[in-house]
Amino acid sequence: MSGAAAENYQAAGNPCRQCMPLGASWAFKGIEGCIPVLHGSQGCATYIRRFMISHFREPIDIASSSFDETTVIFGGQENLEQAVMNVFNQYKPEVIGIATTCLSETIGDDVERFVRELRMKEPGLCTLIPVSTPSYQGTQEEGFHRTVFSIVSHLAGADVGSDAGSENEQNDLEEQAESSLPALNFFLPMVTPADIRWIRKVTAAMKGEALILPDISDTLDGGLWNEYNAIPPGGTSVDHVRSMHLSEASMELGALLPDDWRPGYWLQKHYGTPTLSCGLPVGIDGTDHFFKILSEILGSSVPQEILEERNRLCDAYADAHKYLYGKKVVIYGDSSTVESLYRFTSEIGMNPLFCFTGSPGGILKPAIEKLEIPPVADEAPLILEDCDFADAEDIIEDRKPDLLIGNSKGYKISRRTGIPLLRTGFPIHDRFGASRQRMLGYSGALELLDRIVNILMEKKQDDSEVGYTYL
Ligand code: SF4
Repeated sequence: MSGAAAENYQAAGNPCRQCMPLGASWAFKGIEGCIPVLHGSQGCATYIRRFMISHFREPIDIASSSFDETTVIFGGQENLEQAVMNVFNQYKPEVIGIATTCLSETIGDDVERFVRELRMKEPGLCTLIPVSTPSYQGTQEEGFHRTVFSIVSHLAGADVGSDAGSENEQNDLEEQAESSLPALNFFLPMVTPADIRWIRKVTAAMKGEALILPDISDTLDGGLWNEYNAIPPGGTSVDHVRSMHLSEASMELGALLPDDWRPGYWLQKHYGTPTLSCGLPVGIDGTDHFFKILSEILGSSVPQEILEERNRLCDAYADAHKYLYGKKVVIYGDSSTVESLYRFTSEIGMNPLFCFTGSPGGILKPAIEKLEIPPVADEAPLILEDCDFADAEDIIEDRKPDLLIGNSKGYKISRRTGIPLLRTGFPIHDRFGASRQRMLGYSGALELLDRIVNILMEKKQDDSEVGYTYL
């Protein structure tokens, strides 16, 4: 396509994004006893279920208010009420998270009002948390962050939000908070269950208690059950969210968000809970910074075991240098993942020459520019937002990288160009163990480093005419 036709071309060719309610469903899945309901047509829930099941390899229940032609004309209040009551009666959840979809947003359904009216009609209902997620405004990333914000602003504290709990309940929470280890709120982007477990482990090792929101470490990566559970066990409890304003502080990791999307900022503004932000702790620099903040808040030093992990990582950096220095890499996916992998690949001497995301949020480019990392090569890296795979492929063919790092949606480009793809982020449909991939902390960086070096070695070996066995 060329000329005026190309200028006016509006469609996305193989988009590098999923939809906002998917991010909302991910966040709701990290709340204990929660079932997500999507207010829209059944297809939205089916697509999201399919994507999440093949990534996490776990059963995923997501309900729908099941729009049809008449709903589109007369509005979806009745459908939503029926969907909520069906879910409530069938699953006995503690929370029902309600996310809108393109269709319900386009016809202008006022879901906040529907929820208020339903609560008045059915006072015995569980907690309902509505969130507006029109997919034409953003990606799974924006949907996820909006939902986490909505969960906190509906539940945390005593005097803000209709589901915040009674005064007596709040007094109980205050007593519990005073009698236990210092609690620290963690607000993370869409990281793996294994990385969430790492956050909890290192916080405990430093004599703190991590209140992680959302916590999908068991709900989306649990073990075998001895008996059937309608809702997978695990997740952040409603009581923990309600008590978040009483924590020592909040840590927002990978927080590239504007203030009005930041739950930590909201807690600080309404309750004075201090909030500290830093990038995702990926690589030595990022993890050093993370532990410095954690030590200051908790008043304890970094345990020897973790320092030994750091030493091992430094040694591996030195060993890997000859395989990695100057290697050109393309990184794509969610903004926070791409930003942290940009820092990491720069730190290990690679050249991240092209980074892109499907998110239109205006988040990735300023975040990478702010890092002020000097480029490894003469050419400055190209950072694109709202980018699809069709556009990215032309740039990749032109810049000829050694490696692609991103989700499995880039496989076709990898296959066509012969450039190896290291799968990370979401979705990963064509490899096993996505839930258990590690990236955070010294130990996570070591796993990532090993994978990067090995995929480059494998490529070199495969391309060799003689098939070296010693690389
Ligand atoms: S219609 Fe909108 S909300 Fe539904 S699946 Fe498609 S993009 Fe997502």
